[in-house]
Amino acid sequence: MNVLLLGNGAREDALAWRLSESPLCSELYIAPGNAGTERRGKNLPLDLTDFSAIRQAVLDLNVKLVICGPEEPLVRGLRDYFRTDDRLKTVYFIGPSREAARLEGSKAYAKAFMEEYDIPTAGYRRFTADDREEAADYLDTRTPPIVLKADGLAAGKGVVILNDRGEAKRELSAMLDGKFGDASSTVVVEDFLDGIEFSVFVLTDGSSYRILPVAKDYKRIGVGDTGPNTGGMGSVSHPPFVDADLMRKVEQRIIQPTLHGIQARKLDYRGFIFFGLIAVDGEPYVIEYNCRMGDPETQTVMARLQSDIMSLLLETVEGDLSTAVIRMDDRQAATVVLVSGGYPGPYEKGKAISGLEDIQDSMVFHAGTRRKGKEVVTDGGRVLSVTSYGDTLAEALEKSYANARRITFEGANFRSDIGFDLETR
Ligand code: ATP
Repeated sequence: MNVLLLGNGAREDALAWRLSESPLCSELYIAPGNAGTERRGKNLPLDLTDFSAIRQAVLDLNVKLVICGPEEPLVRGLRDYFRTDDRLKTVYFIGPSREAARLEGSKAYAKAFMEEYDIPTAGYRRFTADDREEAADYLDTRTPPIVLKADGLAAGKGVVILNDRGEAKRELSAMLDGKFGDASSTVVVEDFLDGIEFSVFVLTDGSSYRILPVAKDYKRIGVGDTGPNTGGMGSVSHPPFVDADLMRKVEQRIIQPTLHGIQARKLDYRGFIFFGLIAVDGEPYVIEYNCRMGDPETQTVMARLQSDIMSLLLETVEGDLSTAVIRMDDRQAATVVLVSGGYPGPYEKGKAISGLEDIQDSMVFHAGTRRKGKEVVTDGGRVLSVTSYGDTLAEALEKSYANARRITFEGANFRSDIGFDLETR
C-alpha cells in the first residue's frame, strides 16, 4: 500500500522510519519532508495548506493511506476535505475531522468538553472582549500564578503564566485586543496546577483505543526548565514516576471519558490523541489535548514501539483496534534535540552540519535540515533529534549526549539536563 505522510519535523522522520520498515508499506512519500526523511522514502514539495495539491499527489501516486503529522491541516479540515471528495473518500486517513480537531484548535472547546464529561482539569472561565469587566472581577478572585490561554492556535506561544494579578489584567487586555490575532479573541483563564507533566498517546478508531509508550518532554530552552518555551528540547520514555497506579487513573478518569465524549458528540476521530497531563500529588489532570503525535515525544515513542505501525494504523482506520496488540521495547529511550543558535528567538539557517557519519549506537532524526549538494545544512530552529536506547534512562541519555556532541554546526545548542529531574538509574 502506498502511504503519504504529511509534515517535515523529526516527528515525521521517526514515523517515516517505522513506516518504511513495515512490509505493508510499498511506496512511502513524505510531504514536504526534510533531509532525513529522504532516507525513508520520497519527499514531495507540497504546501500543506494547499489541499488540492495534496489531492492531486494522492491520486497521481495511488496513495491509499494518508497520515497527517501536524495539527494545522487537521484544524483547517483536511480530513473533511478527504471525506467529501468523491475520489478521495476511499483513501484511508489518520487524523480527526475539523470539529474533532477543535479539542486542540480551541482551548475553550476543550475545556467545555472536559467539563461536560467530567474529566479532571484546572478550574477555568472563558472571556471575550465583551466581558472585560467581568474578567477583571474574576481575576481579583484568583490566587496567582494565573494561567491565561489564547483560545486558538498560536504557534505554542499563546499560554502566559503570571505571578501578579495586575500583570494578569494587563496581559488579558492585550490578548483580548488581538495580541495573538483572532486566536486570542477568546481567552481562557485557568487555575495553576503545580505538579509534574507527562504525555500519554493513544490510537483510537473512535470507540476502541490502544495506549502507546508514555513519554515526558522538556519544553523550556534553558537548563533547569528556565527561559522561553520551545517546540521541545528533549524527551524520555518511560518516565519513572508514571507508575501503574497513575496510569490506571489516567485510563479510567481521562482516556475512557474522553472516548465516551467523542462518541456521545459523534465526532469523526480516527487517529492519535495526545493527552498533555500533569500529576498533582499523584492525581492526573489534563493540561491540553492535541489531535496528533507530539514532537519530540514521537522520537522516543517510536523507538519503543515494536508493533508494526502500519498494522496499527490500518486497524485504526478500519475500526478494528479492539484486538490490536501493542508490543513495546522494555528498554528506556531518550532524545536530545539540537537547535540553531538563537532559537527560539531569531536564528540563521544554512549552516553546514558535520559529524552525522560519526554517530555510534544512536539514531538521528532530522527536523530543520536540507540537502545542499553533498552537504546537509540547517534549515530551521530545531535541527536534529538524537535518540538512544539504554537499560536505564541514564544509559540512554548518556548515549544521546555522547552523540549530540559528535554533531557540529555553527551555533549548535542543546540542553544538557534532559531527564535531570527524574530518577534515571
Ligand atoms: P503546546 O505547545 O504544548 O501545544 P499550548 O500552547 O497548546 O502548548 P498548553 O499545553 O495548554 O499550551 O500550555 C503550555 C504549557 O503551559 C504547558 O505545557 C504547561 O507547562 C503550562 N501550563 C498550561 N496550563 C497550565 C496550568 N493550568 N497549570 C500549570 N501549568 C500550565
